[in-house]
Amino acid sequence: MSAAPTLLLCSETDDLGGLRPAFERAAAELCPGLRVALWPEVAAGAAEVVALASWFAPRGLPATLPGLRLIASIGAGAEHVLRDPGLPAGVPVTRIVDEQQARGMAEYVLWAALYYHRGLDRVQQQQPRGVWRMPPQRPAAQTRVGVMGLGAMGAEVARCLAGHGFEVHGWSRRPQTIEGVRTWAGDAQLEDFLRPLDIVVSLLPLTEHTRGLCDARWFDRLKPGAAFINCGRGEQVVLPDLLEALERGQLGGAVLDVFEHEPLPPAHPLWHTPRLLVTPHMASSVSPEAMARQIVGDTARVLAGQAPVHAIDRGRGY
Ligand code: NDP
Repeated sequence: MSAAPTLLLCSETDDLGGLRPAFERAAAELCPGLRVALWPEVAAGAAEVVALASWFAPRGLPATLPGLRLIASIGAGAEHVLRDPGLPAGVPVTRIVDEQQARGMAEYVLWAALYYHRGLDRVQQQQPRGVWRMPPQRPAAQTRVGVMGLGAMGAEVARCLAGHGFEVHGWSRRPQTIEGVRTWAGDAQLEDFLRPLDIVVSLLPLTEHTRGLCDARWFDRLKPGAAFINCGRGEQVVLPDLLEALERGQLGGAVLDVFEHEPLPPAHPLWHTPRLLVTPHMASSVSPEAMARQIVGDTARVLAGQAPVHAIDRGRGY
């Protein structure tokens, strides 16, 4: 008797055991007969694995699974799936797209934009010295915020900031239209997009084009004293260049939520860098229920011979 079709939860870096009940509930409702297993309960080569729900799965594992029909990232980014050079061709890769997650991101970026716009960064520096000085206050319409990446996250963030009165600019690969947002597209318009900004937010996926994008040249294109909020991926920033830009005041401050190596080690110098705020990859997350329902739903679709709803373009990298 052959084993039941199996969805394998798999990560080399994190314990995904806590997600299992939500996946089992989703399977019972949306894909009856689908079994949920946790790697390494099911070993490499297992023919019954039809779907891999992964966060940094071991490189090479997907290629050993002959029955694999879907590789699902359990996050909004799929770069950790695509880093596997042996990824089987023709198996669709999906990622999480969730309205609630996008709203959470909008909350986080709104907070960070207000932190700079209202001068809370300065107040925080004054407090240890007992300094009572009100930073300059101005209407939100006089603060220009730029959002790099206008996808599921970036578009929601841009709308939210515009709704709170900020002057919002957005930059994407292809031209976009968002009401209340001035949009720019492509490498050719990057410099013009960046130059007038008071605050710039990255919500780009990690691809071969965005890796190392924020380097010395990029920081030099900013208005002197602008603030940077990175919620995309750590690898998009050349850290020594960021630190150098902060040091000489070209960069007024930074809020970093994502890092090349997470968790950021306790001894890392970033923890103690003035005018830099570290947050632990907390900008937004998806609930286990929403994640499980989306991934099990896509699994049911591929088993029925349909395309998954949340596929990325593997060639484009996002
Ligand atoms: P999407 O794929 O929906 O959107 C990506 C956006 O980036 C699109 O607007 C795309 O342009 C743009 N883009 C991609 N490449 C380039 C480029 N070379 N130049 C200019 N623009 C580019 O992704 P999401 O909005 O869902 O998520 C974005 C990223 O946010 C994720 O990949 C992840 O890294 C990060 N994230 C971080 C979280 C956190 O907690 N810190 C939580 C969730 C996500 P176009 O519209 O033209 O295709």
